[in-house]
Amino acid sequence: MRRSILNELTQFLESSPSCFHAIYNIKNILSKEQFIQLHENKKWQLRRGGRYFVTRNDSSIIAFAVPEQDMSGMRIIASHSDSPAFKVKENPELETDDRYIRLNVERYGGMLCAPWLDRPLSVAGRVIAKDRQGGLRSHLVNIDRDLLLIPNLAIHMNRDANNGYKYNAQKDMLPLYGSLTAKGTFMKMIADAASADESAILGHDLFLYNRQKASIWGASKEFISCGRLDDLQCAFASLKGFLAGEKTAHLAVYCVLDSEEVGSTTKQGAASTFLYDTLTRIHNSLGYTREDYLIHLADSFMISADNAHAVHPNHTDKADPSNRPYLNGGIVLKFNANQKYCTDGISAAMFRDLCNTADVPVQTFVNRSDMAGGSTLGNISNTQVALNTVDIGLPQLAMHSPYETAGVEDTDYLIRATEAFYC
Ligand code: ZN
Repeated sequence: MRRSILNELTQFLESSPSCFHAIYNIKNILSKEQFIQLHENKKWQLRRGGRYFVTRNDSSIIAFAVPEQDMSGMRIIASHSDSPAFKVKENPELETDDRYIRLNVERYGGMLCAPWLDRPLSVAGRVIAKDRQGGLRSHLVNIDRDLLLIPNLAIHMNRDANNGYKYNAQKDMLPLYGSLTAKGTFMKMIADAASADESAILGHDLFLYNRQKASIWGASKEFISCGRLDDLQCAFASLKGFLAGEKTAHLAVYCVLDSEEVGSTTKQGAASTFLYDTLTRIHNSLGYTREDYLIHLADSFMISADNAHAVHPNHTDKADPSNRPYLNGGIVLKFNANQKYCTDGISAAMFRDLCNTADVPVQTFVNRSDMAGGSTLGNISNTQVALNTVDIGLPQLAMHSPYETAGVEDTDYLIRATEAFYC
């Protein structure tokens, strides 16, 4: 894989400790490429050949490029910005034994708990503060140092620890923040990071994140590990493909949506009207009718890009006997008879055809028939904007760990496929 792309990917992952940071970074990349920011609360006046983006909740983004000529349908890619993590609760400080200050947190999404223990963590997200003019302003916050840790219980105090352990999120997963001298300082630290007075902070969405940097490792440096590969690896690769693609024949649409890890049913998630509203407004502003929109939709294709499970080297029996994706083996086409993944014969054929054109290898994933798998945003988005859609992802291990592992080659495959897609 091109070394520069790998560097860009690790930089993107490390500088995106929360969904708000991911969207902020994507906005910056798009702005540098002359994309113009639109606002949902202002009138849109679009022109042919124009490039735009719009955000919702600062945690979802849709960018699009309008072709100069009359469009022949739309080409849409969607991935997600959020990752499972622990969210800081209101009134977070917990005084313990007059000796410790812990933070009270709750689970966001379905994470693996064990790998959150015994490693340096910190906090990132956003705070909403009252500004001097009396308005409310959102500030990104990242305490960029080792700040917290969730210590394991010693083996001597739980001899059964290695025989399987049921984690209690309220008891086992609270991070240690400091000794008693830390009492009353947490929100002050957050306020300082936002350059705001503590009393001015009226709301927050703060998450724990793993401090360990990305690593390229293995005998031939063939693996990459980092937090949030699911799904920022797809968000990054499809952004690179979106920027590189010609975008002359179709309306090219790039989406990164929040809330996938909690079912997508928020105002900014895939189940919301965000994509529908955006596509409708694009059509209205360009002078198209609803009839035109429906005709375009029937001629459109969507790639729902969310990482996939590679065969695990220690658990090869967990994979389907005849559909076995591996790291560095190419893009994974995901199938599920019950349509948790919306790939069908038609969309599989369209995607395989695209990858053949781009000379990109494709692998297939299907759950073992005796195991229920995950789901993703493709079929959820289809309930708002219904079109031919394929579910794909990049192969990875340890999904929903705070330190996931993927192959170094696969990002480039998705960049090449999506570049060819946005023709
Ligand atoms: Zn995902």
